[in-house]
Amino acid sequence: MKIGFIGLGNMGGPMAANLAKAGHEVTGFDLAAPMPEGVTKAASAPEAAQGAEVVITMLPNGAILRAVAAEVIPAMQSGAVLCDCSTVDVDSARAVAADAQAAGLGALDAPVSGGVGGAGAGTLTFMVGGSSAAFEKVSPLFDIMGQKAVHCGESGAGQAAKICNNMILGVTMIATCEAFALADKLGLDRQKMFDVVSTSSGYSWSMNAYCPAPGVGPTSPADNGYKPGFAAELMLKDLRLSQQAAESADADTPMGELAAALYARFVDEEDGKGRDFSAMLPRFEARHRH
Ligand code: NAD
Repeated sequence: MKIGFIGLGNMGGPMAANLAKAGHEVTGFDLAAPMPEGVTKAASAPEAAQGAEVVITMLPNGAILRAVAAEVIPAMQSGAVLCDCSTVDVDSARAVAADAQAAGLGALDAPVSGGVGGAGAGTLTFMVGGSSAAFEKVSPLFDIMGQKAVHCGESGAGQAAKICNNMILGVTMIATCEAFALADKLGLDRQKMFDVVSTSSGYSWSMNAYCPAPGVGPTSPADNGYKPGFAAELMLKDLRLSQQAAESADADTPMGELAAALYARFVDEEDGKGRDFSAMLPRFEARHRH
């Protein structure tokens, strides 16, 4: 398949490389990042999109996605699919999809879970919003870049699934970290804490698969000085998107709101920037109730 790929950073780079490795003809564009192996460099985003059957975008946020889509949509051939894999606000996802459809194109919002490791290994999970026809056309590419693609519903449904999932993740990570800090202060051994909670009703992905305590559980960023992994500022971005969506949908999400406020303080006022989102544990360890 002829593919245009715009945004070849930490995630997009390895995703595009996997498509090229699988034999697809990939033309890429990025303002700064180098071209991954096997990807032909275009001089602009519209040039990367020209003649492609599928154009994939993997960009930092909704404003940039809207700007890139405005340039790319007029350059795309009729019937092609614009598939955005970035994590963006639901409103931007829906607006870009509407513009693409008005121009005779298919459109998908297909944010991912699995991080940089999953992008490299081709084991991402895709959460996809858009028409069944567009989903079917891009499915073979999801199979190369990931291990699972869930068609969640119409435009915006993929982003909705993503931010709801990550709101749960932010909340459970904070709960897990504050519980470890409390357990430490109560003199409970961290390994014992893990052994009990990971097999009891307090378990979660944050505890079992990504334990924030160094030396405990499977290897995680905690064992690597809290080098990301999944950076605290990306968690903050997703929590803010969840609260923006909750605001526009009139949903009451007090735990999500508190998690967003805690990560904002951690990133903007404390030492969270550039650290993994599980570095909430040393943060709580250093704090006192009074
Ligand atoms: P990144 O900053 O490494 O990559 C973004 C790329 O977009 C950069 O290379 C940048 O130069 C390029 N870019 C920006 N504006 C552009 C433009 N106008 N035209 C062309 N290229 C442009 O970010 P990333 O970690 O690859 O994340 C990309 C998206 O994936 C984000 O929306 C992020 O929230 C989401 N995501 C990231 C992770 C992760 O663990 N990194 C996990 C899941 C989802």
